[in-house]
Amino acid sequence: MLKLLCIKMPLFAVALLATAKFAFAQEWKSGVEWQEPPLVTPGATNDAAPSDAIVLFDGKNLDQWDAGENWQVADGVAIPQKSQIVSKQHFGDMQLHLEWSSPKEVRGEGQGRGNSGIYLMGLYEVQILDSFENPTYFDGQAGSIYKQTPPLANAMRKPGEWNYYDIVFTVPKFKGNGDIDQPGHVTLIQNGVLMLNHFEMMGPTSYVEAPHHKPHAETGPISLQFHGDAVRFRNIWVREIKPPVGRRTGPPFNLPSKPKKVEPEPTSTDE
Ligand code: MG
Repeated sequence: MLKLLCIKMPLFAVALLATAKFAFAQEWKSGVEWQEPPLVTPGATNDAAPSDAIVLFDGKNLDQWDAGENWQVADGVAIPQKSQIVSKQHFGDMQLHLEWSSPKEVRGEGQGRGNSGIYLMGLYEVQILDSFENPTYFDGQAGSIYKQTPPLANAMRKPGEWNYYDIVFTVPKFKGNGDIDQPGHVTLIQNGVLMLNHFEMMGPTSYVEAPHHKPHAETGPISLQFHGDAVRFRNIWVREIKPPVGRRTGPPFNLPSKPKKVEPEPTSTDE
């Protein structure tokens, strides 16, 4: 733009414009002194656990889970059997990475094919289902919040292939009297496709009950559902979400109320 003006305008006018632009642009300061964000070394690949992740399953054992002995662990994968498993550690706001594969041998239909699920805080189910060419009710297909919302897309890989779930979850907050203060939210990306975009949870998910908020602790476990299907799991890790830390040291705005009038100077100014 400036280059174009140079052709048409005398030099002093161009200098005036350039100087005025920088003179009026005063830096805005938030007034908050932020702490440096923590260094996190990413995994060697985008699905590998970063340096600060809590690994819940690395293919070897389910020691991090209550009832883990009920599931079959072989060849680096875990397969549901007998019961759900429940993480020993409890989490609040978190980022969860998990990989799963519905059985290569297709059996059953609808909710009876490749069904499992991730229960955030042990209460809120992000559905796992073989939704590859397997119609069911939409708020029960893979990536749904069970009976609360369908996912934004069906991004299923074929039975036997690996699906990646990356979940961001913020826990609901309750008032002292048990009423909901801030609902929980879930964002889900499956295989690089956005499935849930900051979905506002209506309460714990249920097959029989209409969703409604129920007060609970600030942290809770992750549980993985046993639904009778040989869904395979691998590479499960969690990062706890901690908000940035800052300290207010002054007012948030440093802009003058009126821009100063500036005399033109035919020199450049550092930005
Ligand atoms: Mg399920």
